Amino acid sequence: MTGTEILYFPSADACYLRKFDANIVESGPDHVILDKTLFYAEAGGQPTDTGMLRWDGGEARVWKVTKEKGVIKHYVDKLPPSGQVHGVIDWDRRYAHMHMHTSQHVISGLVFKIYGARTVGNQIHSDHSRVDFQPAAFTPEDLKRIEDECNAVFAAAKPVTIFEEDRIAVENRVDDRALMDLIPKSIKRLRIVKIQDVDYCPCGGTHLRNTSEVGRMHITESRSKGKETDRIVYELL
Ligand SMILES: [Zn+2]
Repeated sequence: MTGTEILYFPSADACYLRKFDANIVESGPDHVILDKTLFYAEAGGQPTDTGMLRWDGGEARVWKVTKEKGVIKHYVDKLPPSGQVHGVIDWDRRYAHMHMHTSQHVISGLVFKIYGARTVGNQIHSDHSRVDFQPAAFTPEDLKRIEDECNAVFAAAKPVTIFEEDRIAVENRVDDRALMDLIPKSIKRLRIVKIQDVDYCPCGGTHLRNTSEVGRMHITESRSKGKETDRIVYELL
């Protein structure tokens, strides 16, 4: 079986699609595998999309989507019959994740540029997110500067572009903040999310097409996680 085609992959514009038609390839006891999907499978700090699968005479709630050994599984409260389904994602939830994910790249890119600290962990939620930086020991003045510079990027309306690049080219970049060791060696082509001159990072997530959509960021908390690691928690206003 070839993998599920991921419909939001090719571009930032594709991240705005909300509905799709697909065929059921396989059904498990509580999940289905589709030939294509718009549902984001939880990974890399971005939570699962939720939504509905509809068919002639019925519908099922998709409450979780995972990627297990490369296979995308849509967990449903009711199994659809074999054949075609119409998928609809819960847009408010997804759009909130897009805001958070793009703003996370902005803060990660800026902190790498200003302080040379890499992002070693992150978790996005609909209403707040956290990012762990290393090596870092931020002062209150640093946090104010990070918040101000992030908000300047949002106000500057920077375009977000998504494209593929050879792994070798990515590894040779000097401004790459990614932890390339974490990406399996077998992957030779990488999906890149680039925010003009602010950030460049391999990522499989869903993103806004312009930083102006973010609005404003507010850092609510920062604390040491030990090992020269500082965690920043923020919300969007
Ligand atoms: Zn990302």
